[in-house]
Amino acid sequence: MAEAPESEPVPCSSETEVPSDTKDVDEPLTKKRKINDKETSDKLEHRLGGILCCAVCLDLPQAAVYQCSNGHLMCAPCFTHLLADARLRDEAATCPNCRVEISKTSASRNLAVEKTVSELPSECKYCTCVFPRHSLQHHEENTCEERLTGCRYACIGCPWLGPAHEAAAHEAACAHPRKSAADVVSVLAERERRAKEANAVYNQVLDLLSYEKITFNECTADLQLKPYRTEEFVHKLYYETSRFSAFGHQWVVKAFVNKNQRDPTQSSQREITYQLILKSKTVLALGVQWLALRGPYGEARLRAQLRAHAFSDDAPDAPPHALPLADDNDTNRLLSNKAIHFRLIMFLTSK
Ligand SMILES: [Zn+2]
Ligand SMILES: [Zn+2]
Ligand SMILES: [Zn+2]
Ligand SMILES: [Zn+2]
Repeated sequence: MAEAPESEPVPCSSETEVPSDTKDVDEPLTKKRKINDKETSDKLEHRLGGILCCAVCLDLPQAAVYQCSNGHLMCAPCFTHLLADARLRDEAATCPNCRVEISKTSASRNLAVEKTVSELPSECKYCTCVFPRHSLQHHEENTCEERLTGCRYACIGCPWLGPAHEAAAHEAACAHPRKSAADVVSVLAERERRAKEANAVYNQVLDLLSYEKITFNECTADLQLKPYRTEEFVHKLYYETSRFSAFGHQWVVKAFVNKNQRDPTQSSQREITYQLILKSKTVLALGVQWLALRGPYGEARLRAQLRAHAFSDDAPDAPPHALPLADDNDTNRLLSNKAIHFRLIMFLTSK
């Protein structure tokens, strides 16, 4: 920030128009005003931070800001968390400040707050220089001289990590480019192994796509609340799709929230597991592989993960698997809706 110029502060009202004969009297007052201005501007960003922070987590919002009908602010992750929480408890979501009901339709974005927050100064975590929040990420990832970088010879095994401004000096002296092929071959082999592993699921899917019997379904699973034990107030929560047919059989998908916890609503760490279940009788065991994907109405990206099970009358339920979501916010985003949408591609692998 630029230093205040030596001149008088810009007059904001007629009271600063001081007649010259009273100048001696007013001089200390002007100085005092200058000091006050500085103190105020030092604290203004902190005061604004206190006013514009999320009412739930008390952090400054990173992206979208929502407000209840009385104007209390919530950051997007806290807002979806509140909606998901209420959905799991089968209650209406309320503002933590004033208890007014909040929903996707009754709460609104607050663009002025979003823009103001993005202009507030914040410190680079590497060099402690101060930038407006909207340009901080770019600075920290691309231009900060103190950001952590690797050596350009990391691909042949150099483990060096250091501040960006030291990278050129390190690379000039780095021993790795002068190593022989025999020295780096084991590093390259390990890289190849990891790349193959990452590709394996795509190759498997490509193979499966040439199978004769393939089907895909939009799984729209609505939340069901079932008593866990009748004598307790604890409920077992699960989502269940309506029955769908595939390969001449009837199936459903169930999804559970925090399946391994006794009361699934009592945790802010959430995970969704899902389970494919055969609902009709079968004479022969059905070898099936499947893949869950974001469907046309889905909100969250899923990582590619193939699952397999031999379905029979004795084993109609596939073991539950975690829905391969990219991050925790996606879990709450899915749970804040009435239904979870995803697409299930199924391959019949038995003859
Ligand atoms: Zn928050
Ligand atoms: Zn409120
Ligand atoms: Zn920096
Ligand atoms: Zn190096």
